[in-house]
Amino acid sequence: MAVSFSNSSIDNLKNQVNIVDVIGRVVPLKRAGSNYKGVCPFHNEKTPSFIVSEQKQIFTCFGCGATGDVIEFVKRYYNLEFSEAIEKLAAEYGIRMEKHERKDSREIYYRVNKLAANFFYRAFTEKANKGYPYMKRRGISPAILKKFGIGYADEQWDSLYKYLLSQNVDKKIMLELGLISESNGKCYDKFRNRVIFPIINTRGKVIGFGGRAINPDDNPKYLNSPESPVFQKKNNLYGLNISRQSVGKEDYIILVEGYMDVIALYQSGIENIAASLGTALTENQARLITRYTKNVVLSYDADGAGRAAALRGLDILKPQGCKVRVLHVTDGKDPDEYVKKNGKKAFIDLVNKALPYGEYKLENAKSGYDLSKDEDKIDYLKKATMIISSLSPVEQEIYIKHVAKDVHVSESAIKMELFGHSGEKPVENQVRRMEQEPETENTEITSIEKTLLKIMFTDEAYIDKVAEYQQILESPFAKKIYDLLVSQYEKNQRIFQDSIREQLSYNENEQLNDILNEVLLGGNENKVFEDCIRKWKDNELFKKENHLITLLSLADEEDNQERIRELTDKLMEIQIKRKNNSRGL
Ligand SMILES: [Zn+2]
Repeated sequence: MAVSFSNSSIDNLKNQVNIVDVIGRVVPLKRAGSNYKGVCPFHNEKTPSFIVSEQKQIFTCFGCGATGDVIEFVKRYYNLEFSEAIEKLAAEYGIRMEKHERKDSREIYYRVNKLAANFFYRAFTEKANKGYPYMKRRGISPAILKKFGIGYADEQWDSLYKYLLSQNVDKKIMLELGLISESNGKCYDKFRNRVIFPIINTRGKVIGFGGRAINPDDNPKYLNSPESPVFQKKNNLYGLNISRQSVGKEDYIILVEGYMDVIALYQSGIENIAASLGTALTENQARLITRYTKNVVLSYDADGAGRAAALRGLDILKPQGCKVRVLHVTDGKDPDEYVKKNGKKAFIDLVNKALPYGEYKLENAKSGYDLSKDEDKIDYLKKATMIISSLSPVEQEIYIKHVAKDVHVSESAIKMELFGHSGEKPVENQVRRMEQEPETENTEITSIEKTLLKIMFTDEAYIDKVAEYQQILESPFAKKIYDLLVSQYEKNQRIFQDSIREQLSYNENEQLNDILNEVLLGGNENKVFEDCIRKWKDNELFKKENHLITLLSLADEEDNQERIRELTDKLMEIQIKRKNNSRGL
């Protein structure tokens, strides 16, 4: 039965429960002014920046941004669903909740799967069978076998079928769940002489099974439940029901290919782990992961299929905002074998050495090429620039250097390949780069400055308009040209390019030529002008925002609640301004 609660009883619960009390039981809190303060349980920190407000009944962390009410805290801290968090709080405080029980049409499927899981489990643990010695040979301890609910499907043709009939289960349900198949009016068990891995979702429901053949001649080696009303491979990850707490705590997850990888790593003490159910990672699985962490380490087999799966995984996870790294085990075929042979520490070493997105893609693109041959070099470079162009500006800078070193070509050649013949980043990238490195003092002329110069040379009317935003022109060259333009314009009400050029050195003339040739306005000065201003404003606001965040952390260290509130308000104001600016308001 799926449970939901009435809003009024949720409000009642929140009124009766004190957030300071609930959080204080698991996070040591100290009174700080009108609030309480402690070390954030959701990110690693030494100086406390986690604040609990008794008055507002909320928590907030200035370090990682976690925030919410008491239910949100319980949800996140204990990795529970919303209704589970409410049930936990209600039980602890003896509060009666008004329940709306929705009959979930899937309940019957969960119930039957549970019956089957128990049947397999008993066959594995209560009598002699071929599954138990097999798993023992593979080095899995009884405690871990129990934890994962490992079972055994015997060699009979219909023992599960008969058992489920004895429990009054409708044949139709068994067929839909793929537990049995029917031919010529007779029903057979689908899983026979196999070790059974029940697949359990994060709500603790048995949704399907994986079966490992014991007899080496049996095909396929792994047999999975078919898709059913409760089992969609693309929505679930094996092991996450057990590992999710640890994933939250470690703030990263290791994704492996198989059931045995999950179990072997878990047994070795690496608990933040799950498997993608034999298929390539899907978007839904990626979203499921981001509920617990944004940091993913893909640990697939080193063979061709494993590499292809890793590449697909990267491209699925990156758009979800995940930081992804890839490791391939070097010794032994898969993580299961590796960890058994070399132990936990060695595997963690591999995790620490896992290659980040860009590096992995470049490494992979290189395979098959002989970089001592010019032809191969050129082909690889083309691939490499394509990969680099998909990265963030900071990553681009780094990987351009890597590749240049690797194939012994100049960085500027790669840049030309990337950004066209000038080798300069387009305006947009330039602005993004500045966003990420707001501190760098830029005496070199920026794309925004270049564009504004070009606009003023194209249409004198913009000289007045730029006057309003003079601060944009920071580089010595842009300032010099602007001053010349203004004095000319004031004298003659128009621009004589030649008399400006007379006052420039040979090199400055060349630079001006480059700018005027390079910047294209597409006949739409006004739009380009407005874009420039918007980007510049956003950059300024971004700097202010960063500054405020620094001040906030200072105020926080000093425990100055008043200042924190003041700064938080200002910060929100800036963030709204940035949003409006980006919308052109
Ligand atoms: Zn935090």
